[in-house]
Amino acid sequence: MKLTNYYLPTLKEAPKDADIISAKLMIRAGLIRKTASGIYEWLPLGMKILKKIENIIREEFNKAGCLEVWLPVIQPADLWQQSTRWDYYGKELLRIKDRKGADFCIAPTAEEVITDLVKKDVSSYKQLPVCLYQFGTKFRDEIRPRFGVMRAREFYMADAYSFSATDESANEWYQKMYEAYMRIFKRCGFAFRPVEADTGAIGGNFSHEFMVLAQAGEDEIATCDCGYTSNTEKTEIKAPDQAVYTDADLKPVQEVNTPNMHTVEDLAKFLKVPAEKCIKMMVYKADEKPVIVLMRGTDELNEIKLKKYLNANVLEKATPEFYEAQTQSPVGFAGPVGFKQKFANTKLLADNYVKTIFNGVCGACKADTHLINVTPGRDFTPDAYADFKLAATGDLCPKCGKPFNFMRGIEVGHIFKLGTKYSASMGANFLDENQKTKPIIMGCYGIGVSRVLAAAIEQSHDDFGIIWPSPISPFDLELIALDSEGEVKQKADEIYEQLTARGLDILYDDRDERPGVKFKDADLIGVPYRVVIGRKLLPEGKVEFKIRGQKDAQILTFAELDAKLKELFTK
Ligand code: ATP
Ligand code: MG
Repeated sequence: MKLTNYYLPTLKEAPKDADIISAKLMIRAGLIRKTASGIYEWLPLGMKILKKIENIIREEFNKAGCLEVWLPVIQPADLWQQSTRWDYYGKELLRIKDRKGADFCIAPTAEEVITDLVKKDVSSYKQLPVCLYQFGTKFRDEIRPRFGVMRAREFYMADAYSFSATDESANEWYQKMYEAYMRIFKRCGFAFRPVEADTGAIGGNFSHEFMVLAQAGEDEIATCDCGYTSNTEKTEIKAPDQAVYTDADLKPVQEVNTPNMHTVEDLAKFLKVPAEKCIKMMVYKADEKPVIVLMRGTDELNEIKLKKYLNANVLEKATPEFYEAQTQSPVGFAGPVGFKQKFANTKLLADNYVKTIFNGVCGACKADTHLINVTPGRDFTPDAYADFKLAATGDLCPKCGKPFNFMRGIEVGHIFKLGTKYSASMGANFLDENQKTKPIIMGCYGIGVSRVLAAAIEQSHDDFGIIWPSPISPFDLELIALDSEGEVKQKADEIYEQLTARGLDILYDDRDERPGVKFKDADLIGVPYRVVIGRKLLPEGKVEFKIRGQKDAQILTFAELDAKLKELFTK
C-alpha cells in the first residue's frame, strides 16, 4: 500500500479526553476517531488490524468445530422477557421502540437470540452438539465509558454459543473453547492468564476470564503458586482462625460518646484502637429486602460475593434514608448488639474475619455513640458467617493456605458454562434417546475484538508509539523512500513491487515529506520491520533495516536484506 494512496491521518498530539496510552496512540496513529462518548469510527488502518485479530479468532473457532452465523443487533424485548433479563439487565441495556411502539433492545450479548434460533430447529439429541458463533457490534450503555475502545459503549465482539445434550458434552465444549482461547491469545502475542471469574449478568455455573497482564488493566487478579488464579471479583479466601481468648480476657460492653465519628479511621484514632477491631455495619437492599453485613473496619466488602451468596437479582447499597429506616440509627452508628431482637426478620450476616475480633468496637444504634468491648458470640450472633471480603494483600489461598500475589489485567475474553439457565426459561428443549424432554445444556464464549486491539497496545508500546506483535501488525513491513523522486524513489518503487509480488504486505511511505516526519509516523504506527532507502547508502548498494522497538538499525546489502526477509517471512 502506497501511503500516497492511503487514508492515514496521523496526529502529533492526542486529544485531551484520551485517558489511557492505547487510546492516545490509537487516535494519533489514525486507527480510530471519537464520534460520541464510548462510540468510535474505525479508519482503514484500525480496520485492517481488527480484521487480522478477527481472522485469528475465526481460524481457531473453526478449528474447534464452531460454525459462523450472523445475528441481529436489534432484538425484540419478547425474547429478553422470556429469559427475565429485560427486568434485570439494568441500564446497560439500551431499549428502543419501533414505529408501532413495540419494544426492542440493542444487543449487549446474544444468548436470547441464539437460544431462540436453536429452539426453532433443534428437537432431537441427534442434532446436538452444535456450536455457533458470530462477529458483530454490541452496545452496552456503560455507566462510565472510558479508556477509548477498551470500555466503549459500542464495540466489536466475537461470541460463540455451544448447545449440548449431556453435561459431559457441555464440559467438553467448555474445554475445547478454553483451549481455542489459549491459542488465540498466544497467537496475538500476549502475556496473559486464564483466571476463574464471576458469571455476572450472563449467569451460569462456572467461568474463566482471559486477562492480558497490563498495569492499565481495570481488573485485579489474585494468583497463588499452587495454580489458583482468579479475578478478585470472585477470589475465595481461606477462612481465618477464630480469635483465641479466655473469659477473663473479655471486658464488659460499655457505651462511649463518639461525636461526629463517621469513618472507621476517625473512630479508631479517637478511641485509640486498631481499625481492624472496629466492626462496620453495611446495609444493603437485595431484591427490595434489607440485608446487613458486618465487616472488619479494614476490610472491603465484595458485592459480587454477597449477591451470589444471596442469589439476588438486584443488589444495591442502602441510601441514607433506607439505612436509617432499617436500623433506626443515624448513618454510621448502627451496630449488631441487640439488633436481632429489634429486627428479627432482617438478615444479619457477617464476614468470616469478624470472628477474629474480641473486645471490639461497633455502633450503638444511636447518634454519636459506639459500644466498646464487643465480642461476637457473647454480645451478638449473626444469622451466618461467610466469605464476603474483597481479597487483599495478606489474604490466604483457600486451596493451599499460602498468601496471594496480586497483578492487574485487561479482560479480553470470557467463557461461561451456562447450563440450562436460558434453555429452561426459553423452552429450548430436545428429546433424548429415551424420548424424554430435556433442556439443552449451553455454554457461551465472548472475545472483545476491539478491546484485544487496545490491550495489545497497552502491552506493547514505547515513548514513540505502538510496537505491533507481528501476527496482528497491520503490515508486514514499512518501506520508506527518503526522496520522493530520482534514483532513491526509483529503487524504492522497484523493491516495493518485488516484495509485494512475493506476497508481503508493505506499507510504502512514498510521500513528499521530510525524513523526520516519515520516521516519526513509522514509529507511531508501529509496523515491526522498517526498510529505509536513502541517498547516502544507495550508491553503496545498501539499505537501512530496523526492528521497531530496538535501538539500532542494521545496514544491509540488497542481498542481505533479501535473505533477512526470507528468514522472517517464510511461513
Ligand atoms: P467487563 O467486566 O470488562 O465489563 P464483561 O464481563 O461485562 O466485561 P462479557 O459480557 O463477558 O464482558 O463480554 C465478553 C467480552 O467483551 C469481554 O471479555 C470484553 O473483552 C468485551 N467487552 C465487554 N464490555 C466491553 C466494553 N464496554 N467495551 C469493549 N469491550 C467490552
Ligand atoms: Mg461489563
